[in-house]
Amino acid sequence: MKVKLWGVRGSLPAAPDQSSVLNKIKKALNSFVDFQKQNPEVSVQDFLSSSESHLRCYGGHTSCLEIFSDQIQLIVDGGSGIRPLAEHMMLGAAGLGRAEIHILMTHFHWDHLIGLPFFTPLFIPGNKIHFYAVQEDLEENIRRMFTKPNFPVPFEALGSEIFFHRLEPRRSKKFADIEVTPYQLDHPDPCWGYRFERLGRAYAHCVDTEGVRVSPDDLGEDVKLYRGVQAMTFDAQYSFEEAAEKINWGHSSAPIGLDIAMRERIPKVFFMHHDPSADDEQIQKLEAKTREYYDKRQLALSQSGQQPFEVEWCFARDGIVFDV
Ligand SMILES: [Zn+2]
Ligand SMILES: [Zn+2]
Repeated sequence: MKVKLWGVRGSLPAAPDQSSVLNKIKKALNSFVDFQKQNPEVSVQDFLSSSESHLRCYGGHTSCLEIFSDQIQLIVDGGSGIRPLAEHMMLGAAGLGRAEIHILMTHFHWDHLIGLPFFTPLFIPGNKIHFYAVQEDLEENIRRMFTKPNFPVPFEALGSEIFFHRLEPRRSKKFADIEVTPYQLDHPDPCWGYRFERLGRAYAHCVDTEGVRVSPDDLGEDVKLYRGVQAMTFDAQYSFEEAAEKINWGHSSAPIGLDIAMRERIPKVFFMHHDPSADDEQIQKLEAKTREYYDKRQLALSQSGQQPFEVEWCFARDGIVFDV
């Protein structure tokens, strides 16, 4: 199965402003001049490929992911990232988005809902759209998105047929060849993470979680979300220090996710739900600080005679696709 991250920002969409774009261009031009001094024959493309980290854009869309195999497509959450996903789907067969669509909701904070009124397949007669959640108020929360004065098109006027399904906590449900199991995260209101399994490979989506319960004892049944998975998306809205100050805000930091990944032997981790007030440079600084933490932890483990488990990780940006 493959996973595509359509929105990795948390809390609110965050477009770059003029000063951060100009700053990025200035840095790029300066480093191009330096680069050219050492490599006079260099092309712009060579430079762009060599300094990708300089120019990195993490993206501004809020939570939306696509998990797919050649048999099924599953969508997680309807943050603003679902709008570019809709555009992508509309380019597909028949330009209808797809006849039957499955959307799993983690919870109903605005950043996970705000893209839904712009999800074009909802407006197309003949489409069947299925929403799933553990929470009992799923239908009420989705319907509320399509009410005046917040949005001009009422729910009843949407062209597609819409169905609501309740998921049982910690009980798996099969969608073609992908099995999905919801586990509870540490978040107000509350929020459910998902474990996706196909052909013995597994991926865990653990975002909008404070990571208050870290030890297997504290996690109880929910530890299964992290067990034996090959890839994980984890909440890293804050630095470790900010997370310590923002108790009960419902978000975590990368070191907490790395500790879980090292203990549970999760080889690949993507950190997301980036703070909307952090620009690309700040996120990169946080990523560098996390690298220091990771290197120190690895060193401490090997010095204590333990075999450190290596994790391949990064701070995710909109549009990343990975295999599980
Ligand atoms: Zn969120
Ligand atoms: Zn939330």
